[in-house]
Amino acid sequence: MTNKNPQTREWQNLSNDHHLAPFSDFKQLKEVGPRIITHAKGVYLWDSEGHKILDGMAGLWCVAIGYGRDELADAASQQMRELPYYNLFFMTAHPPVLELSKVIAQIAPEGMNHVFFTGSGSEGNDTMLRMVRHYWAIKGQPNKKTIISRKNGYHGSTVAGASLGGMTYMHEQGDLPIPGITHIPQPYWFGEGGDMSPEEFGIWAANQLEEKILEIGVDNVGAFIAEPIQGAGGVIVPPDTYWPRIKEILAKYDILFVADEVICGFGRTGEWFGSDFYGLKPDMMTIAKGLTSGYIPMGGLIVRDEVVAVLNEGGDFNHGFTYSGHPVAAAVALENIRILRDEKIIEKVQAETAPYLQKRLRELNDHPLVGEVRGVGMLGAIELVQDKATRKRYEGRGVGMICRQFCFDNGLIMRAVGDTMIISPPLVISKDEIDELVTKARKCLDLTLEVLQG
Ligand SMILES: *Cc1c(COP(=O)(O)O)cnc(C)c1O
Repeated sequence: MTNKNPQTREWQNLSNDHHLAPFSDFKQLKEVGPRIITHAKGVYLWDSEGHKILDGMAGLWCVAIGYGRDELADAASQQMRELPYYNLFFMTAHPPVLELSKVIAQIAPEGMNHVFFTGSGSEGNDTMLRMVRHYWAIKGQPNKKTIISRKNGYHGSTVAGASLGGMTYMHEQGDLPIPGITHIPQPYWFGEGGDMSPEEFGIWAANQLEEKILEIGVDNVGAFIAEPIQGAGGVIVPPDTYWPRIKEILAKYDILFVADEVICGFGRTGEWFGSDFYGLKPDMMTIAKGLTSGYIPMGGLIVRDEVVAVLNEGGDFNHGFTYSGHPVAAAVALENIRILRDEKIIEKVQAETAPYLQKRLRELNDHPLVGEVRGVGMLGAIELVQDKATRKRYEGRGVGMICRQFCFDNGLIMRAVGDTMIISPPLVISKDEIDELVTKARKCLDLTLEVLQG
């Protein structure tokens, strides 16, 4: 990349000299140099070279209300002046965290009226792990420790989060997973369904939960955790048969169900939570990302009343973070949720923009490189293949990365998970902007195909 703006090189030098970037190959990043994002508005980003880029990923799935909303900046500034920090440890509280707890209880599924706040989604899942084990210990069943999770699920990057997640490339670094966490197959029909129909495969994948419970023994299982729709794993929308069968299994065995709503929560599916979309009845829900639209870090765990009733009998819960329920983050989250509600953003997603996005995206099915387009709400995935009928990939060609680079160079952010292109735009994306997204996506698919055929 040749730079027009001399400052770009200066920033890249600072990156090389001093910054270690998350989920990056440090050496490769030094060679290429990071793209410097300087400002943003609505669904668009600008880099230091003046390129305008349509952010098809809403940052990292988080910028629900779009960039540049002054109301959130004002809420933060006002709260910083009033009370910039106080903790919640020693029988104290402050108004923003209490207001936010009430508002979250209003939008959460029936019977989920309490929130434990954290600084991130990962910390939310760490909290979950400790709370699940504490819960069963209080109930006199301390052996119910094991958490069942899914291969290729994503639950964060702390030691517990990465262990709960099913990403083998994360497990390889740091001797993970920690004990007491086990993984079952994911409901990824396109990649792993073989000759089964999606419906058959959905039942098969759900039955893996029952088999695992029986293998370990229900007396040793504390909880099952899952994303309603796997995000980082490649926007994996399970077959229609999957969640109904999982619900039957959960009803049969005495274990807790945790919905990781870090991506699906706060409107991404066109409902407040992915659990609403699929009619799930979780005991706990992990939240982050859309909670503050990413304007400031905050996560949490929403807990069902029956679970809280047990925890109430357990004495101290010896867990918490310095920044649990941070007042500035809470004020920003409150303003974010106010905007989602007052501007009826989720209603509009459900009624208008998500159906439009899903329809337009599916038009890409006619492209020779596309094996499947799927999605729900403001989530979408495009599978890149060599052969549509057999779902055969271009082995070893790094097709997803080629396509991702074309997208970047043509003013669109789409992420690549292997050879699956994924999108998760801000919920406020308009129909015109959706048209632009799909047009650019098609162009990048054409450019990718040219490389493969050239
Ligand atoms: C991003 C994510 C997390 C982790 O959240 P952080 O804020 O990055 O710690 C957990 N679960 C899911 C489903 C996520 O997408």
